[in-house]
Amino acid sequence: MAVISGVGVSSGRAVGPVVRMPDPVAEPAAGATPAADVEAEGARIAAAAEQVRADLERRASTAHGDGAAVLEATALMAADPALVTAAQKKLSDATSAARAVWDAAAEVQAMLESLGGYMAERARDVADVRDRIVAVLDGRPAPGVPERETPFVLVAHDLAPADTATLDPATCLALVTEGGGPTSHTAILARALGLPAVVAARGILDVAEDAVVLVDGGAGTVEPDPPADVVAQVQAAAAREWTFDGTGRTSDGHRVQLLANVGDPKGAEAAADTGAEGVGLFRTEFCFLDRAEEPTVDEQTEQYTAVLAPFAGKKVVVRTLDAGADKPLPFLTDTSEANPALGVRGYRTAWEHPEVLDHQLEAIARAAEASGADVWVMAPMISTPGEAADFVARAGTFGLATAGVMVEVPALALTADALMARVAFASLGTNDLTQYAMAADRLLGELAELSDGWQPAVLRLVHLTAEAGLQADRPVGVCGEAAADPALAVVLVGLGVTSLSMTARAIPEVAATLLSVTRDECVRLAELALSAPDARSARAAVHAELPPLA
Ligand code: PEP
Ligand code: MG
Repeated sequence: MAVISGVGVSSGRAVGPVVRMPDPVAEPAAGATPAADVEAEGARIAAAAEQVRADLERRASTAHGDGAAVLEATALMAADPALVTAAQKKLSDATSAARAVWDAAAEVQAMLESLGGYMAERARDVADVRDRIVAVLDGRPAPGVPERETPFVLVAHDLAPADTATLDPATCLALVTEGGGPTSHTAILARALGLPAVVAARGILDVAEDAVVLVDGGAGTVEPDPPADVVAQVQAAAAREWTFDGTGRTSDGHRVQLLANVGDPKGAEAAADTGAEGVGLFRTEFCFLDRAEEPTVDEQTEQYTAVLAPFAGKKVVVRTLDAGADKPLPFLTDTSEANPALGVRGYRTAWEHPEVLDHQLEAIARAAEASGADVWVMAPMISTPGEAADFVARAGTFGLATAGVMVEVPALALTADALMARVAFASLGTNDLTQYAMAADRLLGELAELSDGWQPAVLRLVHLTAEAGLQADRPVGVCGEAAADPALAVVLVGLGVTSLSMTARAIPEVAATLLSVTRDECVRLAELALSAPDARSARAAVHAELPPLA
């Protein structure tokens, strides 16, 4: 079978047998297969629920952290007799066991939802238990990531957050999806777990279960039946663990700060544990999501302090609220906009609601004081140097002296020289910069080829911005997903960026890759990428010159 090309979204190589994610459980046909023997079918439902409960409890006992908590909550739901009893009652309506469970689950879900709050959140667990019971009744594999004792490559159409809560990186070697894009959930999860991943791999679903494949997350390829010598090489490299000594640099000592992207206190602690030099992007949205109203300044101060505390004495770049588009907020966003990605999002929400930004700046200043972190502050979705100047002035009134902006709108990159005179620093948000430069919705899997940080057009915008920063002596970092790709990180350094911020797990391999090249080599590789005709060729040209780490 020929090599399958997709988009590599998390670097690294792995070899293993394909395990397919089972198809989602479909709604059983209404009224089909009347229960021949109501009592026997009722017992079958009870036995299936018991099997599901026992299975979940067994898995919870060996899982860790969030995964164990998810499994325990679902096992508790499976042990609750309400669903089984309601389903058994439905059997007298001459309905199949699977249909009875489905209808009973809908009633239990509606009841929980009507109670609101915590109980409403449990409605999702009911759906999970329902699917598992229906799968047992129909003799099909349980939904979710299959359980295996031996390592495998997980292949799926696409992965949702709930599918992957229990994904164990000890057995799952790599992720390959037919759908998804570089900023899809699969991509973000793969980078967080440090697993090689290829998305938008058309044809991967035709590869047979158990067929051995080589996944190259850097090159974006999946090779069925790879040669034995390559398999041996990949397995030897996989056994090696990268470590980071806390100082990002090239082999000839050119300094590049390696920072973490964090989104909540737990993430900040984990990032500090991996030895990140600081935080290059603190996404503050966690404090606002699922809220009907703006949180108070006190509340925000407390939450930000918890994120800043593990980085006392170190740099933390706090981004003000990026509401709108893929992160809508009920009290700020107008959901009727026809084009939310081009609408009132990010800093633009402060035109109508400056008080929300002011409250946030006040809380950030207080949290900086309380935590002792070296706090820098930046605004997202800035389009002009004038807007940047307004933001910097506003931050200054709260005593936040190191203020800058994200460069994620091409217009701002094109005016970077005028921008640098007005800010203390800039940070390139390559996820949005790519979306806007390529006119390609970052959430659309079909556009993955275009939504790629390796696109030479995006690299030119990065170059313009970094050059302007060097001229004006202003630090210019990258905090989009591009920074987590080791080969692309080398290119970004060659283009002149001074820091890279990424999911903490990616730092050790990026650090090792930078240490394998000189600054001049970074510049040469950047030139290769800049002159390529598209992302695929840019990636291939750089990979050909930058052999995988031994
Ligand atoms: C970006 O756009 O690159 C970025 C870092 O911000 P977000 O992904 O939160 O939009
Ligand atoms: Mg962005």
